[in-house]
Amino acid sequence: APVVLWFRRDLRLGDHAALLEASRHSKHVLALYVLDDVLLTPSGAPRTAFLLGCLEKLNDQLGGRLMLVHGDPATEVVRAAREIGAAAVHVSADAGPYGRRRDAAVAKALAEHNIGWVETGSPYAVTPGRVTKPDGEPYRVFTPFFRAWTAHGWPSPARPSHVDWVEPLRSVKIPRPPRVSATLPEPGEQAALDVWHEFLSGGIETYATDRDRPDLPGTTRLSPYLRWGCVHPRTLLADLDDSPGAQALRSELCWREFHADVLWHRPETARRNYDRRFDGMAYDDDPEAFERWCAGKTGFPFVDAGMRQLLAEGWMHNRVRMVVASFLVKDLHLPWWLGARHFMKHLVDGDLASNQLNWQWIAGSGTDAAPYFRIFNPATQGEKFDPQGDYVRKYVPELRSVPGKAVHRLKERPADYPAPMVDHAHERRIALERYGRITS
Ligand code: FAD
Repeated sequence: APVVLWFRRDLRLGDHAALLEASRHSKHVLALYVLDDVLLTPSGAPRTAFLLGCLEKLNDQLGGRLMLVHGDPATEVVRAAREIGAAAVHVSADAGPYGRRRDAAVAKALAEHNIGWVETGSPYAVTPGRVTKPDGEPYRVFTPFFRAWTAHGWPSPARPSHVDWVEPLRSVKIPRPPRVSATLPEPGEQAALDVWHEFLSGGIETYATDRDRPDLPGTTRLSPYLRWGCVHPRTLLADLDDSPGAQALRSELCWREFHADVLWHRPETARRNYDRRFDGMAYDDDPEAFERWCAGKTGFPFVDAGMRQLLAEGWMHNRVRMVVASFLVKDLHLPWWLGARHFMKHLVDGDLASNQLNWQWIAGSGTDAAPYFRIFNPATQGEKFDPQGDYVRKYVPELRSVPGKAVHRLKERPADYPAPMVDHAHERRIALERYGRITS
């Protein structure tokens, strides 16, 4: 009997453990994707547009045989499987809170029709939940998790699979992507592999030193592809040796796995503080300040450049994500979840685990609490990581005539560039005082 491969965060055909497993059960595989409003409605337009682009590419790779349906997966997956008399539905396991609930409902509905449910692999090198302390407790701090994750290890990339893709009996058309003003990366598996091979042929040599420099093309920019599974992290890990760049990248890839692991153990941390003492944290209510931050008009050039890069590209450099997040929470005293929501609306790589838990890490309410060390001074950060000011000038045109690193500490401001909306030293003291109240 044929089987169904239900694609979700695994929009590729290479290194696909669930596809390989499906092909072991049957040579006839139906490729299915469900447009699920529960996920689509809150997704920002850039991420939706990128997703739809990836579906176009996947459909091309399948010779036009991707079956696309729209609706509730618990109904639609069962219907599609029954229509072709499938023996089982194969998936890569989803580790997110909604995905786990949804999958339990789909598996149950399939069982009522004697259709199997097979989970093989996940979007991670090590499936979340598998790396624990010797006593079975989850890790709360990255470095010991990294050591245990490395020791746990992962399989080599999955072999290619040979299947006959079943011609779908019906399918809706891939919707036209929403209009977005941001310039998005090329979608799909081939684009992901091209980006990766290009990086391996050059960028990796300087990654360890340049990855913190937003003015340089120092990082892989693979995050949107990892988000949608256009490439599996195992494919990347298999190409990494022990050079400094490779070691640094392995550790960054592990951050992604760490946050997924934390969310797997504590699904409520997508919305709530990981450290519950922070439920008592005093935040301000200042919609106007929030709007200025969103628009990149705070009067702090490094912060404004980051916020405008987000709007222009649906992506922001990691160093700048940290600085703008710290600014929102510690200079404007606004709650982390407001910033996290804005990021999720605009990021092409927006990922619940990586986004919410990085925000919490910066806010101090997350794992590895060290709130005192994570109050970033935007001017000092800019001088250190954008030493010639090129990054700021690229995204803040009002400052294009200010030379060199002077863009980070403006002596005079062009008439069309705002004055700093707060005094950093003063706000820092307030932030520390508020932290002191809940942590002492
Ligand atoms: P590279 O430096 O090339 O790293 C390679 C890969 O490692 C990344 O693609 C990513 O998958 C992973 N990685 C690197 N750093 C981190 C990290 N700190 N946490 C988790 N994974 C990491 N990343 C997302 O993928 N989605 C998000 O929604 C997201 N939100 C963030 C919010 C905040 C406030 C902060 C501080 C960071 C966030 N990150 C998020 C992490 C990081 O900024 C991005 O993964 C990175 O900038 C992507 O660019 P890159 O692919 O060039 O990174």
